[in-house]
Amino acid sequence: MNPLPLALTPKKILLIGAGKVAAQKARAILESDCPLSILAKEVRDDYFLDKEVKFASFSPQELEGFDLIIDATGDEALGRWLWEHKKEYRYWLNVVDVPALCDFYFSATVRRGDLCVSVSSGGASPTLAQGVRDKIARFLPSLLAPLLNRLKEERQKGRIDPKSALPSIQKALGKVFLIGCGPHSVGNLTLKALETIEILDVALIDALVGEEILDLLPPQCLQISVSKQKGCHSYTQEEINELMLRYAKEGLNVGRLKGGDPMVFGRVAEEAGFLMEQGIEVELLSGVTSFLAGCLQSGITPTLRGVSAGALVVSAHLKESRFHDEWLAWLKDSPYTLVVLMAHSFAREITLGAKNRGVPLTIPAAFVSKIDSPSPKSVIGNLGCLEEMAKECEKPAILVIGEAVKESLKMPYIGERVILE
Ligand code: SAH
Repeated sequence: MNPLPLALTPKKILLIGAGKVAAQKARAILESDCPLSILAKEVRDDYFLDKEVKFASFSPQELEGFDLIIDATGDEALGRWLWEHKKEYRYWLNVVDVPALCDFYFSATVRRGDLCVSVSSGGASPTLAQGVRDKIARFLPSLLAPLLNRLKEERQKGRIDPKSALPSIQKALGKVFLIGCGPHSVGNLTLKALETIEILDVALIDALVGEEILDLLPPQCLQISVSKQKGCHSYTQEEINELMLRYAKEGLNVGRLKGGDPMVFGRVAEEAGFLMEQGIEVELLSGVTSFLAGCLQSGITPTLRGVSAGALVVSAHLKESRFHDEWLAWLKDSPYTLVVLMAHSFAREITLGAKNRGVPLTIPAAFVSKIDSPSPKSVIGNLGCLEEMAKECEKPAILVIGEAVKESLKMPYIGERVILE
């Protein structure tokens, strides 16, 4: 069967049955403008509890005046009767899950206001049609609904899709996904991030995103490495913002691939804020943060009962490569575990800062390096020997400070572990 791509004007519909399958059909119909009547002997799905249902056994006079009949009773004899009498009563019929007794099939739909995308497999596989629909729904922006309303008003005033509307249509079609890609491996990528990566037209990639993850991008996807390595910015934040805006305005699916979770020192607020101000749709996707994956790699429980009352996550690096260590004050008599990102290059300064602030240098500390990569390593020591510890491992690394670090020695860990006294 090769389905006709038609959008019907509202039709009067009769749904027979009030079970689970009928509920699915009723949901789909009620999203449209079609008036729906429901006829059933009894309600067998809670969905119908607040719906108007006519309780009656089927009789032919119930069919009068309907354009479409949907038989969701599963009653074979009724289905056959309806099929044989449809010319007499002038209706089109769908006996659910019996393709031979159907004049029409349901399609899987995704709506944005008046915009409706329907996917049909011609009755061959509703599940496949739903899968395709879900994929389309991932990138179909919600902003299309208000735009469509505006265009509809213009059309009512006699202005039919003026050429000047084209840029706003394209812009509304573009969408930017700020995607947390986890610490490194594909294993730590979420399924949602994976599904999104597969539909990208353009990817703006940070340095800490694992290479295996880049292999998942579609072959035609434009890949731009915008890595902001400390000290040598290849792209400024403004340039990255402008790039995202430019491609989104072309109606493309733009992915901003970030290491770990975008909400942890990921500059999402700057990027999402900028794009939203420009009227671009933005979706945030969480990822596994290096802070937690690193603790797990090293066997450090940052909220270890009786030892650490919680965890604080800070950065040793502020804007323009500036080192800052105000957070060291938290370490004095602290009941918490402190996790410091971007600390590896400042190991010496951190020890000095702790000394100057009178923080005991004996507090246990660990550099957890190359988290989730093929060469993970943990170096365990204390606040007093951070420089030596940093020399034992490579960047990227997180620094974990607190009594919970000592307890990690009893825990399983991943990769290499070096203990410095
Ligand atoms: N959004 C990221 C953090 C970005 S800040 C996240 O949630 O993980 C960058 C810092 O994160 C690095 O300097 C390092 O401290 C840490 N980091 C990120 N990925 C890492 C990895 N694979 N191994 C070790 N540290 C990592």
